[in-house]
Amino acid sequence: MSLETFIRRMPKVELHVHLEGSIQPETLLLLAERNNVELPYKTVEGLRQWYKFTNFSHFVEIYLAISACIRTPEDIEFIAREFLRGQAAQRIAHSEVTFTPYTHYAANSRIPFEDQLAALSRARQWASSELGVSVGWVLDIARSVRPLEHGLTVADWAISGMEHGVVALGLGGIEAGHPPELFEDAFSRARAAGLPAVPHAGETVGPESIRGALRSSQATRIGHGVRCLDDPELVAELRDRQIPLEVCPTSNVCLGVAPSLDEHPLPRLIDEGLYVTINSDDPPMFNTTLTDEYLRAAQMLECGADEIEEFAINAVRASLLPGATRAAMERQFHAEFAQLRAELSV
Ligand SMILES: [Zn+2]
Repeated sequence: MSLETFIRRMPKVELHVHLEGSIQPETLLLLAERNNVELPYKTVEGLRQWYKFTNFSHFVEIYLAISACIRTPEDIEFIAREFLRGQAAQRIAHSEVTFTPYTHYAANSRIPFEDQLAALSRARQWASSELGVSVGWVLDIARSVRPLEHGLTVADWAISGMEHGVVALGLGGIEAGHPPELFEDAFSRARAAGLPAVPHAGETVGPESIRGALRSSQATRIGHGVRCLDDPELVAELRDRQIPLEVCPTSNVCLGVAPSLDEHPLPRLIDEGLYVTINSDDPPMFNTTLTDEYLRAAQMLECGADEIEEFAINAVRASLLPGATRAAMERQFHAEFAQLRAELSV
């Protein structure tokens, strides 16, 4: 019980969570009504049923339907504020949040990127002054986007946002059939401008996708990466280089990447000496939160506060915060952990 209290109260950093995938059902209904968008369900309960995924394509279909409810910069600011309020309530001091700008530009809404960035910036400044939490935006390329030049457009947008909270270029969406190599140019352009790459890889596709991400995007971190375990040589490389993996256990179960939490590869990833961080991905869609993911990790690993603290510190160190800010946050976390552990005797 005290470990649970410790997890609830401890400071956290989240590195893999999607803004569009974090919209609560209540908010989605509100946006749909405000913008006259037809959703297949008109109640919170109905939406929760709708979120029962059968496979990754079904998930992407729902994801696009959710994105279609976002029509204006005000909608973006609204969902970002709501999201950050939820992060602050979980004691998440810093979040690196994936957002897919091309979807909101190309779909019905056609929101100019500058307006999207301005909306994100307003929410970011509000969260900093009102909630005391920070956020960095990971702008991702939807890997099924064609022609591929659109990937370069997203890279240019991300570069233009570097002074306004954009911390990385990401790669998301349907992994099968859309290898990271296709977007090498976009990642090279971002890297030349000093913008790191944090692509999804090794979620629904195996080691070749992770290798592709390491080679063609020079990934700083890997979104998911759990499928690396199929290839001992790749595991060795990830271990030697201590490339952080953004592991999202419940998401993996909901999307069929792991058969169940009991059979999730988290314990093996740890045993292999890999750099693991714990994340929630699309929390309301998977009926979870970052706090829940930590609680589940504690259960899966049958571990104590030491290991949980290590995950939290891993996330701080793998964040893309400026060095001095990151070091200060780590010191602050250690102080809070020590205080909490004394108080709770864990
Ligand atoms: Zn993701």
